[in-house]
Amino acid sequence: MRYSGLRVIKEALTGHKGWKPAWREVAPKRAYDYVIIGGGGHGLATAYYLARNYGAKNIAVLEKGWVGGGNVGRNTTIIRSNYLLDGNEPFYEHSLKLWEGLEQDLNYNAMISQRGILNLVHSDAQRDAFTRRGNAMILNGADADLMTTEAIQTRYPFLNVDNARFPIKGGLAQHRGGTVRHDAVAWGYARAADSLGVDIIQNCEVTGFRIEAGKCLGVETNQGYIRANKVASCVAGSSSRLMSKVDMRLPIESHVLQAFVSEGLKPILPGVITFGAGHFYCSQSDKGGLVFGGDLDGYNSYAQRGNLPVVEDVCEGAMAIFPMLGRVRLLRMWGGIMDMSMDGSPIIDRTHVESLYFNGGWCYGGFKATPASGWCYAHLLATDTPHEYAKEYRFDRFEKGRMIDEKGVGNNPQLH
Ligand SMILES: Cc1cc2nc3c(=O)[nH]c(=O)nc-3n(C[C@H](O)[C@H](O)[C@H](O)COP(=O)(O)OP(=O)(O)OC[C@H]3O[C@@H](n4cnc5c(N)ncnc54)[C@H](O)[C@@H]3O)c2cc1C
Repeated sequence: MRYSGLRVIKEALTGHKGWKPAWREVAPKRAYDYVIIGGGGHGLATAYYLARNYGAKNIAVLEKGWVGGGNVGRNTTIIRSNYLLDGNEPFYEHSLKLWEGLEQDLNYNAMISQRGILNLVHSDAQRDAFTRRGNAMILNGADADLMTTEAIQTRYPFLNVDNARFPIKGGLAQHRGGTVRHDAVAWGYARAADSLGVDIIQNCEVTGFRIEAGKCLGVETNQGYIRANKVASCVAGSSSRLMSKVDMRLPIESHVLQAFVSEGLKPILPGVITFGAGHFYCSQSDKGGLVFGGDLDGYNSYAQRGNLPVVEDVCEGAMAIFPMLGRVRLLRMWGGIMDMSMDGSPIIDRTHVESLYFNGGWCYGGFKATPASGWCYAHLLATDTPHEYAKEYRFDRFEKGRMIDEKGVGNNPQLH
């Protein structure tokens, strides 16, 4: 069923009796060509592009919980392509381009809003670094705008540029960046994949792999054994746990990251703003809540909740840059499990086991990557060759010393 304005009017006039479930509820078949483990944004996007771009027909997505229950529905919804390094920038710019046409492509309102992102600058050295980043972005075909203090004051009059704890000396803006309603991305991809025949199976946890002579033949699940020609892991924060079942020790640690939402306010923030002298980023949802976050909790964890010292740290960041928010009340907060790689960049690659593939290491930047990750992982699965935009996202970069260390902090996953 196609969604459209006319359909909404027709349903409104006929008692809303014609709407169908967005995707089918199916029991797993005994065998598939492709089994994708993980019904998050990346797993569902992979299934969709496998079917759409490569005509694959016999695909299942196995999700241990419910679609949208993982990080895809827990993040702070920011999309951007403001990366510095060659291994990253073309990939994230491809992703941003896919976001720009995604709602038409999926026929789904994901509330994509290119309201812009501004990274604030608080020192001359930071301005130099952001100038370099902006130039790298432009060289890769992305948009970047080094804003002066005056331009920032005009667009964001509530920011105290010269008399704050950390005076603002400019900022790097990407006006095509913005926000997307996160769970709608999962639902939109699920619906579109289902319409191309993909089986989306919820409450189906993969508990092991069947391997013979170095080849993966299928997966053990709580709903029985499922055979597959190709098996693709796409479980984000659970990557280390899942891949340990084939004795793979990944260059990934799992850490908790928290997100926060305030009570609803009238529109005050026109875009996404990131603080440059601490770790704090904020946008305003269409319902009016301020959506914000900061650093990881700083210890390994599989718990989807965080601790109070980080709440305090994030709120201190908020107060340093937006003292006007001092009396705003916090409404909700939660945590997600981040698959933090050693250099802060992801992995989309084959594994040492034939027919078993891996996608992970997205750290806390994987939401914006969802379309390109699905696009490139589908390419790898269908052709057995890395996609041009993801060719640096290989396991062997750690062995060969070709880390994609965007932050320049070394192999320190909790700092990326
Ligand atoms: C608080 C927070 C804020 C963030 N903010 C941003 C942001 O602003 N911008 C940005 O770009 N990124 C952000 N991220 C990161 C982003 O959300 C993730 O990198 C991305 O969502 C990970 O990919 P995914 O959507 O496929 O993961 P998930 O949605 O976590 O999908 C993985 C799925 O695998 C399932 N699974 C796990 N094990 C199994 C198993 N054994 N069998 C079957 N299924 C299994 C899980 O249940 C889960 O649904 C943030 C993350 C968090 C937690």
